[in-house]
Amino acid sequence: SDHSLIYPASPESMDWSTHFPAFKAQSTETNETPSTPPPMTRQVEIADIGCGFGGLIVALSPLFPTTLMLGLELRNQVTDYVINRIAALRSQNPLPLPPTYTSTAPITAPNQPLASDPSQQTPSPPYHNISALRSNTMKFLPNIFPRAQLTSIFLCFPDPHFKQRKHKARIVSAQLNAEYAYVVRPGGLVYTITDVEELHSWMVRHFVGEESGDAAELWERVDEKGLEGDEGVCVRIMSEETEEGKKVTRNGGRKYVAVFRRRENPEWP
Ligand code: SAM
Repeated sequence: SDHSLIYPASPESMDWSTHFPAFKAQSTETNETPSTPPPMTRQVEIADIGCGFGGLIVALSPLFPTTLMLGLELRNQVTDYVINRIAALRSQNPLPLPPTYTSTAPITAPNQPLASDPSQQTPSPPYHNISALRSNTMKFLPNIFPRAQLTSIFLCFPDPHFKQRKHKARIVSAQLNAEYAYVVRPGGLVYTITDVEELHSWMVRHFVGEESGDAAELWERVDEKGLEGDEGVCVRIMSEETEEGKKVTRNGGRKYVAVFRRRENPEWP
């Protein structure tokens, strides 16, 4: 249950260096406050909500090697699986060894790394930019990400919760869409995909349609077929590389995609 979930009190208290050690800034400060998490060279920009076994972020990782991506998953064992999967991929794709001193001076500390930032070295090997966190995003998303940090959220094959009385467990609702609008920056995207037509129309209705409430002025639907470059790539990857997407392909099922762009903040009088 959620009682056993560990979540940060605020985004500022989130220690990302444990998730992405390759992107930890080389601090020059000698007296860092131990209570504040170490600074990072990058922030998480892509969240895969309900990431399941992690197929999406694993596929996106090599395509966007300097973009940090986080899979969020409710189930404990599934989250552990993704964490172990990423650890194995990282060990098969280790970071390059930092350059060593080549001075002619006597070597007092052999193989001492230069104080350079490993994340700035290119090309950086894949999988060091992805991680997973166990969380119930229906409750804790604003504890994890500050306002406007994310460029994209993926909602891939969310649990359909067919029965009417279970609809409140769906991860798309007017209230949650307002939270997604809080953490996604203007111009950013929410990508959705499902094989359940009724859930697809539910998601559209709650982002931009008659049930979107206040979220309506924060989102506009974009034509996913017109998306180019990285955004077009993301649509293809979520259709083909998620575990659920592959299952639907095997079964010859149909996939319904909808993409929503975060509008600029409304101007207040
Ligand atoms: N996105 C993956 C894919 O496409 O292969 C997995 C889809 S699976 C049908 C839905 C996942 O969402 C499950 O793993 C479930 O545990 C997770 N989930 C459901 N509610 C959630 C919540 N409130 N917070 C985080 N994850 C959630």
